[in-house]
Parts: sequence; C-alpha cells; structure tokens
Amino acid sequence: MTDENTHNPTDLYIGGRLQAAHSTARIPLVNPATEEPIGSIVDGDEVDVDVAVRAAGTAADGWAALAPAERAQYLLKLADALEERAEELSQLVTLQNGTPINVTRAHHSAVPREYRYFASLADRVIPEELITTAGGDALVRRLPIGVVAIIAPWNGPQALVGRKLAPALLAGCTVVIKPAAETSLDAYVLLEAVAAAGIPDGVVNLVTGGRETGAALVAHRGVRKVAFTGSTRAGVAIGEECARQFKRVTLELGGKSAGILLDDVDLEAFRPWIFGACLPQSGQVCRALTRILAPAARYEEIVSFIADALSSATIGDPTQTTTLFGPLVNATQYERVTSYIRIGLDEGAKLVIGGAERPEGLDRGYYVSPTLLRDVTNDMRVNQEEIFGPVLTIMPYETVDEAVAIANDSEYGLSGGVFSTDRERATAVARRIEAGSIGVNTSAMPMEAPFGGFKKSGIGREMGPNAADAYLEYQTIYRAR
Ligand code: NAD
Repeated sequence: MTDENTHNPTDLYIGGRLQAAHSTARIPLVNPATEEPIGSIVDGDEVDVDVAVRAAGTAADGWAALAPAERAQYLLKLADALEERAEELSQLVTLQNGTPINVTRAHHSAVPREYRYFASLADRVIPEELITTAGGDALVRRLPIGVVAIIAPWNGPQALVGRKLAPALLAGCTVVIKPAAETSLDAYVLLEAVAAAGIPDGVVNLVTGGRETGAALVAHRGVRKVAFTGSTRAGVAIGEECARQFKRVTLELGGKSAGILLDDVDLEAFRPWIFGACLPQSGQVCRALTRILAPAARYEEIVSFIADALSSATIGDPTQTTTLFGPLVNATQYERVTSYIRIGLDEGAKLVIGGAERPEGLDRGYYVSPTLLRDVTNDMRVNQEEIFGPVLTIMPYETVDEAVAIANDSEYGLSGGVFSTDRERATAVARRIEAGSIGVNTSAMPMEAPFGGFKKSGIGREMGPNAADAYLEYQTIYRAR
C-alpha cells in the first residue's frame, strides 16, 4: 500500500477484516515536526462503535473456551509478528507523535518482550480451583470479564495498548481498541499483526476517532470493562460513566512526580536520568520526574549542572538518531506548555534555561526548548499541575523530612525517584513517598512489577505477575458435603 492509502484509512478493522466505516467524518493528522499534513483517519461514530462491540461480543465465547495456555500461544505469535514490524512501527509512531526515532525503536523492541512476558503468566490464570471448606467445598472460577474497551493516549501507543491487550487476551476477554486520534495509523499495523498471529476474527477490533468515539465506547452496554490510560480529566469522565453502569475500570492517569536528589548524589551518575527520568520524550511521559528537589547546600551546584546538561541536548528532527528532544505532539500541547512557562514566570519563578520562545533555527514544528525554572514554591501551578512538556522545576530542601513532605504535597501519586550513592538510604526515602512506583537511581521500570497510581493518578494496576486479574471476574460455587 502507498502512504496515500495507509495514511488515509477509510475502513475500520472489525471482525477480522477491514470494513468500511459508517462515519464519513475525518480527523486530519499533522506531522508535529513539520506541521505538514500526514493524512487523516475515520472519526468513528456510535454505529461504528456498536458494530465493533458486537463483533467482540460474537467472538467472546469461542475465545473464552480456549485454555489460558492456548491463548498464551497466540500471544507468542503476536509478539513475533510485532517484532517483524518493529521498524515500521517505530517510523510510523515517530511520524505521528514526533518522538525521537531512537526512543520509538527502543519502545518497539520492548513491546514484543512484554507480550512474551504476559504469555509466561498463563498458569496463573487458573480457570477453576476446588477449595475444601468447613461445610463442604467451593469451586472458585476465574471468568473473563467479557468485552474490554482499551482507550489509549498518543505518547506510547503500542506499549500502552499492549500492556492492556495482552493480559485481557490471556484472561479470555475480547477487545475493542480506541487509540488516540494522533496515533491511530500504527494501530492498523497492530491489527494486521493480530491477523498474522492467527488470533480468531473479532477477538481484537479497532475503532478510530477522538473523545466522542471513546465516550461512546465507554457508554456502550456491551462493554464490560474499560482499560484506560490518559489524562486525569478524561479519567474522571470515564470513571463516572463506569460507576453508573457498574463497569469494571482501570485508570492510568496523569502525574506530577518528584525526583529527590539526596545530599550525597553523584551528579555524573544522575546525568543520563535528566533525560531518561525527568524529561523523557520532551517530558511527555506520565511518570516524568518534573519536580526536582535538591539539598539546599548543593542547590546552586545542581541547578548549574542540570542547566548545563539541558543546554547540550540536541533538539530537532525526530527522524535523526542524534536527536534527544523532538517536537511536542500537536499545536494544543505546544500552546499549553508554552503558556505554563509564562504562568510560572508570572508566579515568580526564575528562568534558568529554555523558555516559551521557539528554539533557534526551528521555525516550523511544535518545538519547545528544555526549560528549567528555579526559585519555585510547591504551591505554584507549575509545581501542582501536569504540564506534559519539557519543563522542570527545581526547589531546595533543608531536611529529608522536608523533601518527602514536598514530594507528597501533590494531588497526584504516580511515580517518584530518589538518587543517592547510598542505595539503602535512598530506598528508605522511597518508602515514604506516596506514589505507585518509585525508582532508586533509575527510571527503567520493570514489566515484572505492578505499575499504577495513588491519588488522582489512577485506580488499579497494570503489568506485573497479577496483570490478568484486572480482566477476570471470580465466581464461587459453594457446595454442601
Ligand atoms: P487524553 O485523556 O486527552 O486522551 C487519552 C485517550 O482518551 C484518547 O484516545 C482520547 O481520544 C480518549 N478520550 C479523551 N476523553 C475521553 C472521554 N471523555 N471518554 C472516552 N475517551 C476519551 O490524554 P492524552 O492527551 O492523549 O495523553 C496525555 C495524558 O495521558 C497525560 O495526562 C498523561 O499523564 C497520561 N498518561 C498516563 C499514563 C499512565 O500510565 N498513567 C501513561 C501515558 C500517559
């Protein structure tokens, strides 16, 4: 297929084949690096959602009847199919969301490993267990919840769908995926990989579109569980609708995480994490450590060190392997992030490096320079609200107790980081942070451990050995002797 076709799909992938969409509405796609059009996608309507949910419903019994080990075999085949298409996926995601190609390549080599990991959990999905009880026995059944709606954001589209899709399939659920409008083209590649893996028709379905399409999917009576990653604002709307219908729901939402540098921190060891933990993907990662807390006695040294590291970062064309900072995903994000920089300065923060002006030589594309704000207080909006862009704040603290209190003074609780030459001391601090996952001298999060948020960062957990539980319903049949 030519780019003209692949970048302008008029079909949706439903029931194992491409089918003409009911909706004729389109959403244009823009390359964030150049502001040039890429193509457009179907803005799916309620009829499209209904057709997809029905297809998933029709496939449900057959898929649920397979043994977990058989479903795991399909996941392994899907991992192979995705591995074959990893480079294509990387190029496509970079084109759509502007993430530097080195990063999308790393993502798409990790995604098949995640599917294989979930396949390895098959023997944890025990369909029936007999438990002896005081009065007789109990047959404890683990049943797939039913049709699952997967709704994903644009920043890591394949990984964020994969960590829902794989455990849902393993549990025996069938699925309708609604990717973010910005990153819908790569979802077609995923559906082709699903077909190449031989996964039966209708087990995985794709409807594209924006917020309204997502809302129609959440509201559909045939959907029994929603697995969502995205903003806290959308999470509230989805949670409300799920509560009304008593649907199961997992919400992976926003964050405003703190990175605590202890007084013995080795700054050279911390250097790679300035990009890897604090500003990955130009700060467009939910668990980015965008609030840096530095010991007061080393504040000036650390401010200079981070500013120096940021000044050396290559900003520009995300298709180049030398690029560290690509553009933001779209014009809305660009406006939002630059307006937050202005808000911070109006609130009294001081600019160390970066700012709301375009980086030199980049007149097109949604580029924002990596920005460091100092002399902030934790009540400022730039320290309380998720910016989702390359904006770091740095605050001094006098005691570790104070650092912990500042880190926890947030509505969010997604992640955190502690950096120190003393691993055990850092771990003791990490234990005190109110967040779902905290890195000690790293932000490379293992897929073998659960991930999710405290407070407004979400409900439920993904990843880890019990990931399939989020897609299972328990039934107990208790019997008299
Ligand atoms: P978003 O909430 O605007 O959109 C996410 C997805 O939800 C999209 O597919 C969108 O079309 C859909 N959607 C939006 N409103 C909806 C509604 N009312 N009903 C149903 N569907 C709806 O988020 P975004 O801008 O795409 O992504 C950025 C956000 O995602 C940030 O807040 C970030 O922190 C969060 N995020 C969280 C994690 C995590 O694991 N916790 C990971 C990545 C991103």
